[in-house]
Amino acid sequence: MATSNDSASDSRQGWAQISLGHLFGIRIGLHVSVLIIFALIVSSLGGGMFPQWHPDWSAAVRWSSAIIAAALFLASLLAHELSHAVTARRLGIGIRGITLFLFGGVAEMESEARTPRDEFLVAAAGPLASFVLAIVFSFLTGVLEPGFEPSGAPADFATLGVAATITLWLSMVNFVLAVFNLIPGFPLDGGRLFRALLWWKTGDVVQATRQAAAVGRFAGWVMIFWGVWRAVHGDTVNGLWLVFIGWFLQRLAVMSAAQILMERSLKGLSIDAIMRTHFEHVPTELPLNTFIDDFLLRSSQLVWPVTRDGQDVGVMTLERLHNVVPTDRAHTTVADAMQPIAEVVTLPAGTPAQEALHRLAEHATPMPVIRDGRVVGLIHQADVLKWLALHHGPAETV
Ligand SMILES: [Zn+2]
Repeated sequence: MATSNDSASDSRQGWAQISLGHLFGIRIGLHVSVLIIFALIVSSLGGGMFPQWHPDWSAAVRWSSAIIAAALFLASLLAHELSHAVTARRLGIGIRGITLFLFGGVAEMESEARTPRDEFLVAAAGPLASFVLAIVFSFLTGVLEPGFEPSGAPADFATLGVAATITLWLSMVNFVLAVFNLIPGFPLDGGRLFRALLWWKTGDVVQATRQAAAVGRFAGWVMIFWGVWRAVHGDTVNGLWLVFIGWFLQRLAVMSAAQILMERSLKGLSIDAIMRTHFEHVPTELPLNTFIDDFLLRSSQLVWPVTRDGQDVGVMTLERLHNVVPTDRAHTTVADAMQPIAEVVTLPAGTPAQEALHRLAEHATPMPVIRDGRVVGLIHQADVLKWLALHHGPAETV
């Protein structure tokens, strides 16, 4: 459905991701939400469309063909994303992998296209693959059922065999997939094509992103109003579905444009320029009670590097205190409660701010910045946001 240059992609490989291995050297992942879509398709085909087309089919035939059709649909979706990914890689854009999720798929790109031409080609590759699949499945239907010419009446479909029914449905659904993705609302493929054209015409990628996102929001709102109109006129289920997709689209337009613009403005910035360098260390032999009274309660610092003989050997935080019974705190030292440095998630000095922002979003706690084995700074999510506010105003919107 879309491409993403979200460098947090690695973090999305949590419990909700099922890995399907590699294809053409590209990692393929499945988000658990795909199972919802799979179940929806199987139930709507096996419980609605196929019985309508083939009243004579047994339940076993109906449901097994629904499962096969739904699986082939997911494969079609994957082909769409692979097409984006392979094109991007051929143009020198690194690809982390592909993830299929509830609303389709995402090809995770390591960087943005360098030229409007590249952006255009990568965006066009997906819908093109879907169109090709629509033609191939339509051709297969013709081979399986020579002379089949639907007039649109469900009775026509009754003459189709199982295989031809599945290929016919797949040709239709791939066609819809291609057309839907060509809606000119960013970040859909159509929106990316639109952005590439604006970018090519004006040379200004930031302005192009804003305008494409505005069209994306507009497309979303059109869909919402259309859905409401249909719901009011009796078509409740399809109407609400449109409202839902429209709302999702317009949110996605705002969020992805904001993300792209933010990442763009952080480009080239290292955390060394924004990390906190005014902070205190605590020695290993410090009693916990003293740590609490003289450090924890007296400062806004949240993470303290712990030193022994001039070496940073761990970090101390409020959370680590929970490992020690309060009555023991008088005769326990920081060394007993700290997190050893080897277990601490840290960032090396010089880490790009973009990457740090993603890592910080995952961990929600400030991270120590390490250079030559020493903690040289602490970085908070707020530090990145502070820099953005300093350079772009407090609430830059699309
Ligand atoms: Zn796409």
